[in-house]
Amino acid sequence: MKITRILAYRIELPLCEGSYKWSGGKSVSVFDSTVVAVETDEEVTGYGEVCPLGPFYLPAYAAGVRTGIAELGPHLLGEDPTQLAKLNCRMDAALQGHSYVKSALDIACWDILGKVTSQPLCVLLGGRFGEDFGLYRAISQESPEEMAQKVAGYRAEGYRRFQLKVGADALDDIARIKAVAAELQPGDRLIADANTGWLMHDALRVVRGVRDVDVYIEQPCRTYEECLTIRRHCDHPFILDENIDSLDVLLRGHADRAMDVVNIKISKFGGLTKARQARDLCASLGIAMTIEDSWGGDIVTAAIAHLAHSTPSELLFTTTDFNSYVTVSLAEGAPQRVDGRLSTSSRPGLGIEPRMDVLGRAVVEIV
Ligand code: MG
Repeated sequence: MKITRILAYRIELPLCEGSYKWSGGKSVSVFDSTVVAVETDEEVTGYGEVCPLGPFYLPAYAAGVRTGIAELGPHLLGEDPTQLAKLNCRMDAALQGHSYVKSALDIACWDILGKVTSQPLCVLLGGRFGEDFGLYRAISQESPEEMAQKVAGYRAEGYRRFQLKVGADALDDIARIKAVAAELQPGDRLIADANTGWLMHDALRVVRGVRDVDVYIEQPCRTYEECLTIRRHCDHPFILDENIDSLDVLLRGHADRAMDVVNIKISKFGGLTKARQARDLCASLGIAMTIEDSWGGDIVTAAIAHLAHSTPSELLFTTTDFNSYVTVSLAEGAPQRVDGRLSTSSRPGLGIEPRMDVLGRAVVEIV
């Protein structure tokens, strides 16, 4: 089987709640997503998607996805999309770094492998653990009162894990964490995600200020070393996210006992092939995981669901359903939240069919 043509589409994904705000005053109201179609000489087409969280979150930006695919695509024509490790070697040889560019291409090739073998991706990624799995709800950064008020509505939708966007003024963040914690019920879990937003002195004030609160602290500071220092000064369960983008740093984090949970975002690692390697390493080491991506619509949500569903249940800390945060549906057949939980379809590949009327005309074509 050979890749014969690669197309990329640009789609805008407006947020249901108007905007999404996190540390450092960053916010997005309309996400700029890219869907990739990889066509083959056997009339099988695979689809992938990547959507950076704006240009100021990770070293990734939306227009860069399309430019990168235009650069990388010609190197993939004629390659066999079902030989995923080989395909990834080809991508890495042709373009250094730029993991997020490779992510949508890799997901599309996994979709092809699933269709060719008539297997859902979760089976190919290791097997389906349990009937379904739990989701977290991110709570956009607002005043402590506004964030606390949102908990009841999200719980009514079935969510039992709440990820607060903090990373602002230390005293305000302490108030946010305490206000939301007061709304929790038995079985709920609370995560305070600073998204690298605190300097060390403020992070130390926050963890001391919420010492008696049952809360996970996620990525308090910008660098790994800063986070490790905060980790050693607090007794909260600790999550690393933005710094965990390779097996190398994952192994270092394990050796340093730098975290209890890691956040594996598919595009941060460069696609399902590499995210799965990281997932399997964490599973072998006993490190719990949040499995997700930077953002996305139906296709990213389907890819996340397959990786999450093929993760041992006790090690899957939480995951997310980005397609419920946005007003546009890109594809039919994507997993939909039921009582705060998600499951994958048993259809081959990702199990989705893109809505071509929503995708519109391709903005990149490689032939
Ligand atoms: Mg995070």
